[in-house]
Amino acid sequence: MSARVGVLAIQGDFEAHARALARAGAEAVLVRDPKELDGLDALVLPGGESTTIAKGMERLALYEPVRAFVESGHPVLGTCAGAILLARAVENHPVRSLGLVDVTAVRNAYGTQVDSFVACVDAGAAPGLEGLRCVFIRAPRLRDPGPGVEVLARVDGEPVLIRQGNRFAATFHPELTDDARVHALLLGGMRTPGAARRLAR
Ligand code: GLN
Repeated sequence: MSARVGVLAIQGDFEAHARALARAGAEAVLVRDPKELDGLDALVLPGGESTTIAKGMERLALYEPVRAFVESGHPVLGTCAGAILLARAVENHPVRSLGLVDVTAVRNAYGTQVDSFVACVDAGAAPGLEGLRCVFIRAPRLRDPGPGVEVLARVDGEPVLIRQGNRFAATFHPELTDDARVHALLLGGMRTPGAARRLAR
């Protein structure tokens, strides 16, 4: 049976994530209500506009259910705005975040001149992520990762993909390329029974 992965579907490119998950062999389920988390194996928080997504999460009372879902060991992947929502702290027009990853997200940190760009990860990325092409769109930077945070990939020395146990945060948009490796990382967190719980430690 394929994994059932929720995609928070308030705003942003959740449809592209659903397609990317299907390419990675999972079944994508759009989530707009806390009850829709029931029975899911993992969750994606997509890119988009974190202010809008945060307001929607507030309106739909999703903060606590999402936090509980992740804290119980289910893998989560936040991309761009989704990474901002996972962070411990947010700077430059702060939004309410979930505080699930020990890092500070600085919104729109590449400024207006480089709103969008594509770059390959630096040499020395985690095994299996070599040469990953990353699409950045008004991307945040991830500053001051805590001791429990592993930097899996960097671009120009800046962390762009990090992991804290069962939690993955990317400042780019893996759903916009054909490369399924980042979604595969999320799915890898639940390949064996209990793996998700072990990863959460
Ligand atoms: N700039 C957006 C924000 O701060 C994130 C951009 C994105 O998700 N592509 O919410």
